[in-house]
Amino acid sequence: MSLKDPSLLVSRAFVDGMWIDAPDGKVIAVNNPADGSTVGTVPSLDRASIAKAIDAAHAAFPAWAARPAKERAAILRRWYELILENADDLAQILTAEQGKPLAEAKGEIVFNAGYLEWFAEEAKRVYGDLIPPPRGDQRILVSKQPVGVCAAITPWNFPNGMITRKAGPALAAGCTMILKPAAQTPLSAYALAVLAERAGVPKGVFSVVTGSAEPIGLEFCHNPKVAKITFTGSTGVGRWLMREAADGIKRLSLELGGNAPFIVFDDADLDAAVDGAMISKFRNSGQTCVCANRIYVQDAVYDAFVEKLAAKVAGLKLGRGTEPGVTQGPLIDQRAVEKIEDHIADAAAKGAKLVAGGKRASLGGSFFEPTIMTGVTQEMRVAKEETFAPLAPIFRFSTESEAIAMANDSEFGLAAYFYAKDLARVMRVSDALESGIIGVNSGLIANEAAPFGGMKQSGLGREGSKYGIEGYLEMKYVCLGGL
Ligand code: ADP
Repeated sequence: MSLKDPSLLVSRAFVDGMWIDAPDGKVIAVNNPADGSTVGTVPSLDRASIAKAIDAAHAAFPAWAARPAKERAAILRRWYELILENADDLAQILTAEQGKPLAEAKGEIVFNAGYLEWFAEEAKRVYGDLIPPPRGDQRILVSKQPVGVCAAITPWNFPNGMITRKAGPALAAGCTMILKPAAQTPLSAYALAVLAERAGVPKGVFSVVTGSAEPIGLEFCHNPKVAKITFTGSTGVGRWLMREAADGIKRLSLELGGNAPFIVFDDADLDAAVDGAMISKFRNSGQTCVCANRIYVQDAVYDAFVEKLAAKVAGLKLGRGTEPGVTQGPLIDQRAVEKIEDHIADAAAKGAKLVAGGKRASLGGSFFEPTIMTGVTQEMRVAKEETFAPLAPIFRFSTESEAIAMANDSEFGLAAYFYAKDLARVMRVSDALESGIIGVNSGLIANEAAPFGGMKQSGLGREGSKYGIEGYLEMKYVCLGGL
């Protein structure tokens, strides 16, 4: 990796404005999923070090919360600008530890820096209310205050983007934050911390820690100084955090698994639907929580859709994310490869047919061929579980109500997509789908101006938009009496 600014690649944790090692010197190796080589190491902090980071965030909170919003906004804005200025280096670091193509990595960084820009602006618009009282001698004042110390846990699929979505609204609201990135991708998090420090984020306001997930999770959940936990990751870990955090009645924001349906109706623009499916399914090699997981296609256009999709999939290029023209990087690890293999084997055993891919790629490691299967049904595992890999399973349906019922037949409700032209159908289906986010004639749905989050077991709360800051605010009602 040749960085313009090598100081962005760090091997220490960032706590209370200091760069520290683990007290016992323990480290975690960070590997490049494209070839297994070591990219760097980060400290494996013990639980006592995590408690110290929480103490620092707690100590920093009153002064940060008391800063005028305009000042917090200026610091966040500066952080945003520094990320843009360093986007090429950040992309190199991201691709080295995560595997996605360099252009996609840079896209993630620039696009998600937008959450810092957005929340820098929103910081200044945290309004309260003056409510007409039922009694003449009282006034009802409502204000919003930061919740306090926030602990964030982020996944490896967007090593950069998942951080700005959480740190942006938290710091804008006046909260302080301790972040634990995924063990696979901590280097991007530390690079962001370097830039936060340069932007003028005061010590203790934003700390980054790494180590064994469970002890850190337990400290976050049980330390009384932590007011809120914000987590993006699997539903299983989300449930565990919710249980552990119950005793302390901690505030929770959870962005959990999805199982996105992608419905193609017979009145759809088929080429647009194929393009949308490609973006939604194969971006990040299928490793996003809003990736199309179940593609439902209406009878009359089924064969044509499959043919067009297969032609596009044939044009995908697998390889190291740093190679020009590569569209598909490796999967994050062998466990991910085994999961897609299991889903393919299960579907094949129950009668589905392979149209493309279906096996590990000749590149070795965790590279997997982009795969299409037809004749997929609701009885197969892929209908129930998120594959999180490049498998496009194509289901057939005949009526609108059948498609809606199949799409909603899931405990998850994060994203859903459909392609149709008839306006009445667009409204009916949008109303009926049980998902927090609906893409109509669009395969890309996330942006900082929109509320991102799930219904059902896909989570709690929303990130982005004017609503995204609310999870970091408490409402306070002051009854002014005796007037
Ligand atoms: P995945 O299976 O895709 O890696 P996870 O939910 O396991 O998804 O991981 C998402 C994030 O949650 C990562 O930062 C991971 O280290 C963290 N994590 C996993 N288990 C725990 C836990 N018990 N406590 C706290 N964090 C955890």
